[in-house]
Amino acid sequence: MAPDPRATAEGAQDSLWHVLEQSVDAAFVMDSRHRVVLFNPAAEALWKCRREDVHGTPFLKLLSCTVPGGESDPETALGHLLGSNRDVVIHRADGSRMAGSVSLSKVVLGQHVFHTAFVRDTSEQQRQLERLRQLSIVVDKSDNAIFVSSADREVVYVNSGFTRMLGYRLEELGGLKPADLLSGPHTDPTLNARIDRAIAAGEGLQTEILLYTKVGRPLWLSAAINPVHDEDGSLLGLVSVLSDITQTKMHQVLHNKVLDALVHEWSVADVMTLICREVEHIAPELTVSIITVDNEGLMRPLASPSLPEAWVRKTDGMAIGPRAGVCGAAAWRGRPVLVKDIASDPLCASTRHLTLPLGLRACWTHPIKSSSGRVLGTLSFYYRENRGPDELHERLADTCLHLCALTLEREQTNERVHQLAFYDTLTGLPNRIMFSAKAEQALANVAQANGTAAVLFIDLDRFKRINDAQGHAAGDGLLRDVAARLSEELGGVNIVGRQAGDEFVAVLPMCSAAQAGSMAERLLGAIAAPTNAGLMTLHPSASIGVAMFPDDGRDIDLLVRHADMAMYRAKSDGGADFRFFSVDMNRLAQERVSLETALREALRLDQLQLHYQPQVSGHEGACLYGVEALLRWHHPELGVIPPSRFVPVAEECGLISELSLWVLRRACAQMADWRRRGVDIPRVSANVSAINFRDPQLSLQISDLLDEHGLTPDDLTLEITESVMLDPDPDVLENIEAIYVLGVRLSLDDFGTGYSSLSHLHRLPIYELKLDQSFVRDIDTSAIARTLTTSVLRIGESLGMRVVAEGVETESQHRFLTEQRFPVLQGYLFSPPLPPAQLEQWLEEHQYAAVREGDADLPAHA
Ligand code: C2E
Ligand code: MG
Ligand code: MG
Repeated sequence: MAPDPRATAEGAQDSLWHVLEQSVDAAFVMDSRHRVVLFNPAAEALWKCRREDVHGTPFLKLLSCTVPGGESDPETALGHLLGSNRDVVIHRADGSRMAGSVSLSKVVLGQHVFHTAFVRDTSEQQRQLERLRQLSIVVDKSDNAIFVSSADREVVYVNSGFTRMLGYRLEELGGLKPADLLSGPHTDPTLNARIDRAIAAGEGLQTEILLYTKVGRPLWLSAAINPVHDEDGSLLGLVSVLSDITQTKMHQVLHNKVLDALVHEWSVADVMTLICREVEHIAPELTVSIITVDNEGLMRPLASPSLPEAWVRKTDGMAIGPRAGVCGAAAWRGRPVLVKDIASDPLCASTRHLTLPLGLRACWTHPIKSSSGRVLGTLSFYYRENRGPDELHERLADTCLHLCALTLEREQTNERVHQLAFYDTLTGLPNRIMFSAKAEQALANVAQANGTAAVLFIDLDRFKRINDAQGHAAGDGLLRDVAARLSEELGGVNIVGRQAGDEFVAVLPMCSAAQAGSMAERLLGAIAAPTNAGLMTLHPSASIGVAMFPDDGRDIDLLVRHADMAMYRAKSDGGADFRFFSVDMNRLAQERVSLETALREALRLDQLQLHYQPQVSGHEGACLYGVEALLRWHHPELGVIPPSRFVPVAEECGLISELSLWVLRRACAQMADWRRRGVDIPRVSANVSAINFRDPQLSLQISDLLDEHGLTPDDLTLEITESVMLDPDPDVLENIEAIYVLGVRLSLDDFGTGYSSLSHLHRLPIYELKLDQSFVRDIDTSAIARTLTTSVLRIGESLGMRVVAEGVETESQHRFLTEQRFPVLQGYLFSPPLPPAQLEQWLEEHQYAAVREGDADLPAHA
């Protein structure tokens, strides 16, 4: 019996329906009117709805296709979707949409035509595709060159970055292997072997390589070469990423290495050699040389590690100039110079015999300039071909010039700092620190050789006066002159330094006392040569002290101290001479310290006294002009200590203000007492030190003292020395003026021994001159002394000053002075300085009459 076609069709439909129900893929069936008649569970899951809700609805509610018109017309949509997989948009019940793919087939069952649709969610796939698309854009846009090679190492892909960087397109590579690609004139020849080894070990390789572009331009690249394996672990190919580090490489390598070297205090030559070597490594076609230019404009090769020693020797000392080779010309012009053919370029006429034999054909030189634009040296790139620089060389030159300038400037700064720290800026001699260090070393060597050495302390005589009177520029000039003379005389192994101010020190290693003596003589001679200070010609002199190693001390500090003491002795003996240190001096120096302590004690305990020496005037010296107050100190243990010993100590240790004030107070009190008791003493002179005049209180203190004791300014005269007049301190001048205004007279003591000029004399309100004792002493024996004595008197007279002759001891001196009409005399011939009571007695005995200004016995004062 033939099967019933309807039953067969129904059976088939049942089977199909059954199969579709079971399908893991979402499936639905639509009838000829495009309405959904079957919707399987997978479809329910995909659309997120139940079949009851879709049965009977048009299929275009479930999805749409992108064909124009297909979204509204089911026939058009069907026509598009039938056949193969088509992309569609799935419209889900919750309103969301997703990407899907549909495969639609037509099923004819008996008289019924159905369409079955299998639908897959392709949103994930779509996402991946999108990512891939973006990735390929990124890969192409990347500045890095990326290439992929197959397992048998054939290049199969290059990105556009590769083409941009190296100039090759994939088609041009025509089966080139990485091995061919990764090679060039100066590429690391072991590179391919290294890649092979890394791949064999299943690893990638990260390295820096020098490659060449299609047109031969060198590039430093960082290469990451990575193998790609499939799931089974077999090699699929290599992915290589190259990035251009030409610029960063230079900065990184050069900067890091050079800065590191600078931090570690490498020498300039070593840093420069490092720079040359690094450049030659980065650009192996270059031969690099760095030269400095000294102050005389001569070339001094610093580094040229690939050039022979002979070239360095011959270049050393060549003068820069417009035609002095490429380097010399670049330094001269202060601009880069390129010579592509050394053999023919006239610039190289004088230097090509040095370069050509070395195979160097071209040269490109830059001046190395300081930040202020001064040419410090040159940087040269030599080529073995006739050519000029490429882009890499230009960048290298830029980087190197910066580093070279930095290095050379640092050196100069270091030198300057060193100079400032260890050398005296004025004279260029080692300063105290440097001198001590050098001297210690020298003494250690002398000790090892069992030898002796001398330490000289040299101090200029009257330097302060010269400095004050002629100005600091003159003083500085003198110090420089003396420093130069000392260096010249001493020279060689001897060490000379400036200690402070006008003090110089020298160490003479392996030197006997006798040799030290004759050296000291020579130095005195050298220093004494006349020198110009402004318009003046100075005749400098110095005092030198000598201490011997090891007898006078074993360390430099002690030796300098002892030499200083010896110098002090030379100075106090009159200067312009030298003295050897002796244990005696040491004792003296110590005595000075104990003297200071004792003097403080004496002031506190009132152990000091004033004695008064009469100053006589008139015919036969019958009148009393005044008395000079002179300090006396009788120490209970040390005995009588003369003012010439303790006054300088008081000046040095700062006790002088107190001491002078004590003297003034005591003298005023004494005068007041005499006045009260009717002892007629016209005036008292008190000695004040130059240092007192720096005290702004001085004039005030004096006027207070006068008031306190009911005295008039006429009663007091201040004896000052010439150094007061030369003191540049403005307070000194103010004091002089104030004291003059006060009416207290000023007397210039020890006149004739100082250095004051006559111009000073008439500019200051000096009332009286005291001719120094030394002139009076020699009156009997020396015609010069007699002439000078008379001259001083005449000068005094013509300036309207009263002149006092002191130190009159003999009748013949007295006679001469009276004949010359000296108005006032003072000396042992009349009386020594006496305690007040004895002075009163002396006055009574001699019946002296007091004279004052205006008295007939006192020659009129102009
Ligand atoms: P001076 O001011 O020139 O004092 C004169 C010095 O000559 C005094 O020495 C005096 O005793 C001495 N003398 C006087 N007549 C004769 C003589 O006929 N022959 C000789 N050979 N000498 C004579 P003295 O007292 O030893 O004082 C020395 C120096 O000490 C003084 O020189 C003065 O510069 C300083 N001095 C003395 N007393 C004081 C003082 O109170 N204050 C200050 N700042 N210095 C003083
Ligand atoms: Mg005096
Ligand atoms: Mg005197």
